[in-house]
Amino acid sequence: MLLTITTTHNPATDLGYLLHKNPTKLHSFELSFGKAHVFYPEATAERCTAALLLDVDPIGLVRGKRGQHEGGTLDQYVNDRPYVLSSFLSVAMGRAFGTAMSGRSKGRQELADQAMPLTATLTVVACRAGEGLIRELFEPLGYSVSTEHHPLDEKFPEWGEGPYYSVTLAGTFRLQDLLNHLYVLVPVLDAEKHYWIGKDEVEKLLRKGEGWLASHPHKEAIVKRYLPRQRQLAREALARLAEEDNPDPDATEEAHSEEETKMEEPIRLWQQRMGAVVAVLRSVEAKRVLDLGCGEGKLLRALLDEKSLTEIVGMDVSYRSLEIASQRLRIDRMPTKQKERLKLMHGSLMYRDKRLAGYDAATVVEVIEHLDAPRLSAFERVLFEAARPKTIIVTTPNCEYNVKFETLPAGKFRHKDHRFEWTREQFKQWSRQLSERFGYAVRFLPVGEEDPQVGAPTQMGVFSLG
Ligand code: SAH
Repeated sequence: MLLTITTTHNPATDLGYLLHKNPTKLHSFELSFGKAHVFYPEATAERCTAALLLDVDPIGLVRGKRGQHEGGTLDQYVNDRPYVLSSFLSVAMGRAFGTAMSGRSKGRQELADQAMPLTATLTVVACRAGEGLIRELFEPLGYSVSTEHHPLDEKFPEWGEGPYYSVTLAGTFRLQDLLNHLYVLVPVLDAEKHYWIGKDEVEKLLRKGEGWLASHPHKEAIVKRYLPRQRQLAREALARLAEEDNPDPDATEEAHSEEETKMEEPIRLWQQRMGAVVAVLRSVEAKRVLDLGCGEGKLLRALLDEKSLTEIVGMDVSYRSLEIASQRLRIDRMPTKQKERLKLMHGSLMYRDKRLAGYDAATVVEVIEHLDAPRLSAFERVLFEAARPKTIIVTTPNCEYNVKFETLPAGKFRHKDHRFEWTREQFKQWSRQLSERFGYAVRFLPVGEEDPQVGAPTQMGVFSLG
């Protein structure tokens, strides 16, 4: 069984650095079930591929375990275990790529933290649930997935197709993310035959799933298949994931409006923000607009007044905020014409969503600072790669300005739910790498009165497709 990971990051040989495995050498490990080898079929500055080959010893697998498996003796020796990617792969990855999976890098932390184009090929997986499951597991994380279904036996096409697929997964991720996704999801694909289980499996699952599993739309299926026949453990894992996923997004948001608005009120910042966003939408002559993370609908109200807009969609992950928006905008009492222009949608910016495709513009006002790093990188692909509106307007606090808020203690964020607040330079860097990665042009606009030293209170990036 073979896993390869390819990058075209420049220089691509950085992959060797991240994996702690020199590309010019062969690295071999003894494992209880066979041998693992890491080698590089190609390693140039443009393109580098690392391969992890597992040489599973079917005889070693059975030794000392007589009677544990059902089925005849032949079955114990002749089966697909040596050839399909399974929990053995995860064990080998843990041994071979442990440091890379933790995301730590001694000399080059910034490299480990960087998302880069990565392609993984899995040769082969056994997925009795079919190709649909492969897609369900990987696509919500932002992978483009392609599969090749293998016939049971090429010489006997009438036997039909078996459960075996070659799978290619491509996307832009931190290497750590890709490795952790594979570590958890490969055994999930292979659930029927996956037979390690101990109490520490829950810990392992939660650790490797940190930052992505709790918000995965199929997390229940993942946990159950990862811990097969262990209902109690699966329940425990799901309960802990629910806590991690911040079960009550509404609670933080109600607090958000009060605190932050109070502080920004004297400089009428949100009014200026709305004004700036509307001005850009006018200048690009947008007609169909998404307001992503629309909250309680302040911007939506301003957008409804813009006669040139024919379709306005507000989306938020917080159902409660959408209810408030609906009440404040008095949707139930709106004239039909007005009602037809506006749609409120419950959804998350973490997942690709076909409903978001094809719009002229999307506004993301004071939302990104609520997303932690792995979610931010999912959001980037969801919006810039999948939804891909012609214009994207992003606003976020400029933290250099915070010294001017008298009530805000030094070093504190404007709101407790903010995961970060960026300087102007940080925002520019983030925006520029996005614009390069996804082929948008970007320009920056200050919002609110600009201070000569610390800049304006809000910063805005306007991304446009050429
Ligand atoms: N744009 C609004 C609200 C900003 S507060 C305004 O300017 O007033 C941030 C909003 O982002 C909240 O309403 C929150 O529920 C929403 N949000 C946070 N994470 C989200 C996600 N993953 N998907 C969609 N909305 C999200």
